[in-house]
Amino acid sequence: MSDSSGAMIEAIGLSKDYGLFAATQNISFTVPRGQVAAFLGPNGAGKSTTMKLLTGFLAPTTGVARIGGFDVSTDRLKAAEILGYLPENGPLYLEMTPSEILKFLGSARGMSGNHLRERLDFVAGKCSLEGVWGKPIGKLSKGYRQRVGMAQALLHDPQVLILDEPTSGLDPNQTHDVRELILSLAKTKTILLSTHILQEVSAVCSRVILINEGRLVLDGTVEDMQQGGHGMEARFRELTGAGKK
Ligand code: ADP
Repeated sequence: MSDSSGAMIEAIGLSKDYGLFAATQNISFTVPRGQVAAFLGPNGAGKSTTMKLLTGFLAPTTGVARIGGFDVSTDRLKAAEILGYLPENGPLYLEMTPSEILKFLGSARGMSGNHLRERLDFVAGKCSLEGVWGKPIGKLSKGYRQRVGMAQALLHDPQVLILDEPTSGLDPNQTHDVRELILSLAKTKTILLSTHILQEVSAVCSRVILINEGRLVLDGTVEDMQQGGHGMEARFRELTGAGKK
């Protein structure tokens, strides 16, 4: 059932084993409606794995993921209707143009006619894709590919966005543009975004979820992450053990 007030993203005891390796272990958190939460952790901590579990792209070994109250395993289509996902590696169809891939994905989501045209215009403008609308994705820069990924995540106007490193590999101007885009989306949507850039967290997010070696190590406010007055970087190192090595 959709939850009209409370949790829009729920991880309930999510564990994922790859063979004998436990990539995530018993991860639980919720993101309430309207919140923008940062999902942090060192490389290999299990962020992308958790995001794939939350979006239903991977099945958990144990645990449950819900989007808007819908279990992503048993109510996959209902969850997908309200979820936009930017995966870690961006759009895969390198020979297609943004126009072709977005029309294709829109049709696959049951959109057509004026509604689809309006949404295509909207995402093309919002993600500044007009200049590359007819160019093969394989010929686009990393920054533009990332924008195509964002456009695909936004196409059906979902209430919830799960964004796996939306600013990775972008230059400072592109990073600024994507941050502004996320801030404009934050007014109406619930967002979980992973990032390596700690300055980004206070610029965009009010909440921090930090994992290390597959386990949750902090779930709190941006202020909690700055505890002790040493700044976010020191706290990150303290909680993820990097400072001890
Ligand atoms: P992060 O996004 O935090 O960098 P990932 O979720 O990508 O971390 O990876 C978590 C751990 O799981 C890493 O040690 C990674 O090597 C491993 N891993 C990820 N995907 C697979 C897979 N398909 N098979 C085996 N190990 C994997």
